[in-house]
Amino acid sequence: MPGSGPDVTRSATAPADEARPVIAVPWPKPDYLDALARAGAEPRVLDPSNDGLPAALDACDGVLLTGGADVDPVLYADPERHPTTTVDRARDDYEIALTRAALDRGLPILAICRGVQVLNVAAGGTLVQDLPSEQPAVLPHKPGGAPDRVAHEVDVRPDTRLARLLGGQLDTNHRVGVNSRHHQSVKRIAPGFRVSATASDGVIEAIEQPDAPFCLGVQWHPENFWRTGTFAGLFEGFVNAARRERLRR
Ligand code: MN
Repeated sequence: MPGSGPDVTRSATAPADEARPVIAVPWPKPDYLDALARAGAEPRVLDPSNDGLPAALDACDGVLLTGGADVDPVLYADPERHPTTTVDRARDDYEIALTRAALDRGLPILAICRGVQVLNVAAGGTLVQDLPSEQPAVLPHKPGGAPDRVAHEVDVRPDTRLARLLGGQLDTNHRVGVNSRHHQSVKRIAPGFRVSATASDGVIEAIEQPDAPFCLGVQWHPENFWRTGTFAGLFEGFVNAARRERLRR
């Protein structure tokens, strides 16, 4: 039975090809692809001009939503666009269709930074368009510096998937330091989701869908830590869920 024990005919570090899950990645950057490969996945970069939806997902076992520009507020029924909000509507439309198709199929989803915002909007939630102007007392969530510089801590709620995945990385108060490069955040959480982490200023830093096989979004950038293994648990949990999906099909 696949996955039931060590496969001595293959390398100990590379899972058997047939069990190597394929992860759809629109708008990739190198760190995302490296983090996926390190966790044992085969990234498949989607080309929106050729990879029609939902058919492009037929060959995929999971979806990674990556960082980027702001989601068009029209898509969450906010009639006013804040002056700092910059949008890429073609990308929004493709990624929201991709996310809804993945949710419909129950495919594992890991969503990062803009990705968690896309996930929340695709599932019916809303966003804060500009943290500094809407919540003036907030921590600096876009302080600059190296991509893996720790900017603030997040409080991870016990009994969440996120808490299980981060396990030993959390301190005794269930906190962990994260990097931060965002000026928007989840506002009204989508139906069926729950908050799994917040910053000390109340900004939502992670959400998850408890009933899904794996559906988790984080506002920080765990992929920037792939060289050290910090946050590797997020990618491993995601890729393991995608592998189960692959073996089930
Ligand atoms: Mn932050």
